[in-house]
Amino acid sequence: MSKQKGRYKIIQEKEYLYIIQESISDIHPVYKNSPLNLYLLIGTYKALLIDTGCRIEPLKPIIEEIINEKALIVVNSHFHWDHVLGNGDFNEVYIHEKEASYISRPYNISFLKTSPLETIKAYEQHDFMIPPARTIKTLTDGDRIELGGLEVIILHAPGHSPGSICFLSDKNELFTGDVAYYGEQFLPSPANFPIVLRSLEKLITVCKEKKSIKLYPSHGITPCDITLLIKLHAGIKNIKNIWNSRKLHYFFSAHEVKDDTFTYYVSLF
Ligand SMILES: [Zn+2]
Repeated sequence: MSKQKGRYKIIQEKEYLYIIQESISDIHPVYKNSPLNLYLLIGTYKALLIDTGCRIEPLKPIIEEIINEKALIVVNSHFHWDHVLGNGDFNEVYIHEKEASYISRPYNISFLKTSPLETIKAYEQHDFMIPPARTIKTLTDGDRIELGGLEVIILHAPGHSPGSICFLSDKNELFTGDVAYYGEQFLPSPANFPIVLRSLEKLITVCKEKKSIKLYPSHGITPCDITLLIKLHAGIKNIKNIWNSRKLHYFFSAHEVKDDTFTYYVSLF
């Protein structure tokens, strides 16, 4: 069951799980990883929102309509702009302890001013400095969030960013944030690939322990299965073999290389 509300597409995936999608490509055509997937998990007495998106239109009324009067916990999978710009609508937002400082101040998105699209006019009222949530709280690996008949464990999985986290539910779902998805990958410099690979190995181990687990990434096709993690792990290990084919991508300040499944943007810094 799905319905469109403004620029958000709302899919009721399960009785307790909603996928809220928006198009990141509508903000700047350089970004190809659409849709952006936000997730809303609803327990018997609390709801959990994973990421607040691009905030071209207000997100909070959309969430409130779904959860009614239930208490809401808001978390960011990591600090990158496309996951946090809606934070200002909420009183309190959780993020991994390594990234709290990035979302505690107004978020500078002036790099998006080069977009030829009308959509970005929505950011002009804040002069491209998007306000943060009032209070930022931190999470660490192994923390548990109890929603009532539904529990989520925080898995720290650094690499894409230092404080990237994934969310493992006790109903056989793994929300992977930007740690794994089908689409263009944003990676740190090659010296830090071992950190990325270790995180993917951690998730592969979790998925092998829980047969038939489904993966819910923050970009692109959702849900997926363990194949995503295995392909991405093998692909990143193979980058050294295709490194000579790299091109420079100026907007992303990255080397660009491609294989059959993924395009990788490897940070210059
Ligand atoms: Zn992202």
